Amino acid sequence: MKREFAVIGLGRFGGSICRELSAEGMDVLAIDIYEDKVKEFKNIAAHAVIADTTDENVLKELGIRNFDHVIVAIGDDIQASILTTLMLKELGINKITVKAQNDYHEKVLNKIGADHVVHPERDMGKRIAHSIISTNILDHLELSDEHSIVEVKAGKKMDGKTLIQLDIRAKYGCNIVAIKEADEKGINVSPMATQKIEKDDILIVIGADKDISRFEKQLVVED
Ligand code: ATP
Repeated sequence: MKREFAVIGLGRFGGSICRELSAEGMDVLAIDIYEDKVKEFKNIAAHAVIADTTDENVLKELGIRNFDHVIVAIGDDIQASILTTLMLKELGINKITVKAQNDYHEKVLNKIGADHVVHPERDMGKRIAHSIISTNILDHLELSDEHSIVEVKAGKKMDGKTLIQLDIRAKYGCNIVAIKEADEKGINVSPMATQKIEKDDILIVIGADKDISRFEKQLVVED
């Protein structure tokens, strides 16, 4: 039977994934090259072992093939991260998620077949930068190099107007996929064109970055 998750590298990032998955009741194997790190996770993860994952025999002995999803959270040692990912790939792991340290690292990881490459510092930096630009932009999630989903707070310019009056899709080329009411009464997914927006409602908007940016500048950012 396939086991659930293995997390390699128990730094802040890998450690946080390990804690969260374990708290959600998942069966997690926590792996690190340093004994102290492994000790820290003995009572958190279902299993915690000391291992150097750049050694193929070690990976085989760990029975890593039996895991459905392996997360590689080795940071500074880029060579170890790449080598580990390559061997996991060769061993036929179904899903491999890897933390990239920089853009070149990310490129190599994509080339050798990592299924999901994450770049937490860069991505969090981008999200925070967007929310700093305007106090009305609450969150920003990158979908591709050119497309995003943003969470914006409706300001005065939108207050009391319906989606059809604002004509956002035609004028700005982006779509409002959900509206969270200001008083937290509920969330309206796929709102109708006749839906009225109130100030402080939270709009979930999807579209090309250039279109979202126009929408933000003209309708969201307060004068
Ligand atoms: P974070 O920002 O998540 O704290 P980091 O990016 O600074 O981490 P490191 O601390 O360099 O990353 O690495 C994360 C963990 O990976 C460390 O605890 C380290 O011991 C472990 N690690 C490094 N090389 C290996 C290896 N070959 N096998 C297993 N674990 C390793």
